[in-house]
Amino acid sequence: MCAQPVRELDLGVCSSCGRRAPIYFRRYSGVRLCPTCFKEDFMKRVRRTISRYELLRYDDRILVAVSGGKDSLALLKVLYEIERDFPKSELLAALIDEGIDSYRLDCLRFSREVANTLNIELHEFSFKDLYGFTLSEVVESGIAEKLKLHPCTICGVLRRKALITAARRLGATVIATAHTLEDVAQTYLLNLLRGEKNMRPIGLRRGTENVIPRVAPLRLTPQREVALYAYLEGIPFQSRSCPYTHESMRDEIRNFLTLYDYRYPGSLYAFLSTFERILEKIPQPAEVNRCEICGEPTDRRICRACEIVLSIKSLLKD
Ligand code: SF4
Ligand code: ZN
Ligand code: ZN
Repeated sequence: MCAQPVRELDLGVCSSCGRRAPIYFRRYSGVRLCPTCFKEDFMKRVRRTISRYELLRYDDRILVAVSGGKDSLALLKVLYEIERDFPKSELLAALIDEGIDSYRLDCLRFSREVANTLNIELHEFSFKDLYGFTLSEVVESGIAEKLKLHPCTICGVLRRKALITAARRLGATVIATAHTLEDVAQTYLLNLLRGEKNMRPIGLRRGTENVIPRVAPLRLTPQREVALYAYLEGIPFQSRSCPYTHESMRDEIRNFLTLYDYRYPGSLYAFLSTFERILEKIPQPAEVNRCEICGEPTDRRICRACEIVLSIKSLLKD
């Protein structure tokens, strides 16, 4: 039995140019796009997201957080294209090396390759230099288990903190992260189910004095479109999974939302906009404390990152 040749499938023509063969079908709108129109449409959506939420300013020094995966390298490429229209803005990239044996080597290689091609400065920071230990040391020595912390929790909290440190050292005015539509929706639902008290909008330009805002220009772009853009642009990326990935509550939420959005296309957009309208009505704390150790904003006396670093260091000494 041979597979049906692609040309026999009735895909029609691209809804945008009306000439070329489509390679992408957007289920919620019924639009079909050829590679050229898909790339244009992808960029247009990111531009619209930036302007709708006022994520970036014409003279920003933008630090893009890259991990070596498709989302962050696609973000770097699309911001590079957009930023060319804003001569007063600057784009630079930071990669945080958590020290995950073997896994991060490819991430470093791909990030360097893409940054080099785009002629963007890539700054590398490591847990080892910033905190004195690697994630693998913490996990393999049993310290993570002793602290009852999953590697992803340690990794997420310390990477976030490392990015702030990187942004301060590099004089960035904003940090751009590659959170997609699915990432934002998953986090909102996860926060709801965990009964999170301080729910805040994700990836929007907020911030009080001395806080470097974190924005997510892909917050309205579905993950599969980011993957297709990376593929069409020939962006090399790390496709292996991290050895510490595990089945988490987030994975269950991700699977549920993926299935739901497949059955009812457009649901994620509806969820995001309704949830953010509700969030707008919740008063946000006007004043935040400053961590007694690092001085970054926190709602505790010592921020979670400093607390984790202190606990790990005290166990490493033993
Ligand atoms: Fe870090 Fe977990 Fe992601 Fe691995 S899977 S890079 S440990 S957050
Ligand atoms: Zn087209
Ligand atoms: Zn701190």
